[in-house]
Amino acid sequence: MIDPNWTCGRYAPSPTGSQHLGNALTALAAWGIARAAGARFVLRMDDLDTQRCRPEYDRMVLDELAWLGLDWDEGPDRGGPHAPYRQSQRSEQYQAALQRLTEAGRTAQCWLSRKDLSELASAPHGHPQPYGPQERQASDAVAQQRQADGMAPAVRFRLNGERRTVQDRLRGARTVDLEAELGDPVLYRRDGMFGYQLATVIDDHQMGVDHVVRGHDLWGDAALQATVGEVLGAREPAWVHLPLVVDSEGTRLSKRRGEWTLEALRAQGASAALIRGWVANQLGLTPTADALSPTALIARFAQATTMKTHDIMLRADDLAQITRSSH
Ligand code: GLU
Repeated sequence: MIDPNWTCGRYAPSPTGSQHLGNALTALAAWGIARAAGARFVLRMDDLDTQRCRPEYDRMVLDELAWLGLDWDEGPDRGGPHAPYRQSQRSEQYQAALQRLTEAGRTAQCWLSRKDLSELASAPHGHPQPYGPQERQASDAVAQQRQADGMAPAVRFRLNGERRTVQDRLRGARTVDLEAELGDPVLYRRDGMFGYQLATVIDDHQMGVDHVVRGHDLWGDAALQATVGEVLGAREPAWVHLPLVVDSEGTRLSKRRGEWTLEALRAQGASAALIRGWVANQLGLTPTADALSPTALIARFAQATTMKTHDIMLRADDLAQITRSSH
């Protein structure tokens, strides 16, 4: 599963609150896999969303990751050759990439508002359909008028009907019809914020990341990111998309519903060694959820030939496992 030739891994949290147990699993796996491969490990703050990201959460995330036992060679608090490590400070890099995509003929202005888009999509399933031919046409139809009105356009990546197959180390191959499933992604928003798809691709490329370990909710995006990266001359990283952690109703954990955040778990006496043991056990690396040191966790990843891929549903039992007072 792990390639000893890998040279750089990363964890890219959004500082919007205390990390929950699902984030902890992703962070420990991304770090453990990078270290097991003998690779560098980069910590990058995905803090583009200035509405939801806050400096106090940024500090909180750094503290929580250190508490979990992670260390990083480069990051917002340590600097490094690819600084800055906060996306909110990397506009220059994103602007340059956007320029190159435009020169390559792969961007298009989008003059539609969110309201326009949802009206166009008045589809029965009720969520916006992928941005495609119909939307492009509607945007072109209003472009002149809106420009005259002084409105600013968003910029989107222009898909060319691509289908792309990505190989995940755990999950095998998946072919994504980018236009039908995802649509032209936003690279630059009307409010001046750069898009996740652009920022992630550029950062991973510039920081030398050659394997990406994250939740499988982003597996479909991998095909899109590889496509955008290709236009920019980026080599596609290896992908490892991890199971998600869900609550007893099967809903993905959220930082807003606080009961499974590290902040709440620590207040209930959770130990980092037990969380490491729980993560190893849930991923199928160990038969029991006994406490593990950071070094022992790395060793488990190094020995692993595969990992579990199904989502992890939390029960009261899990809480007991990570807060056992005897440790
Ligand atoms: N910042 C994203 C998140 O917290 C992760 C992005 C990625 O790993 O590509 O979900």
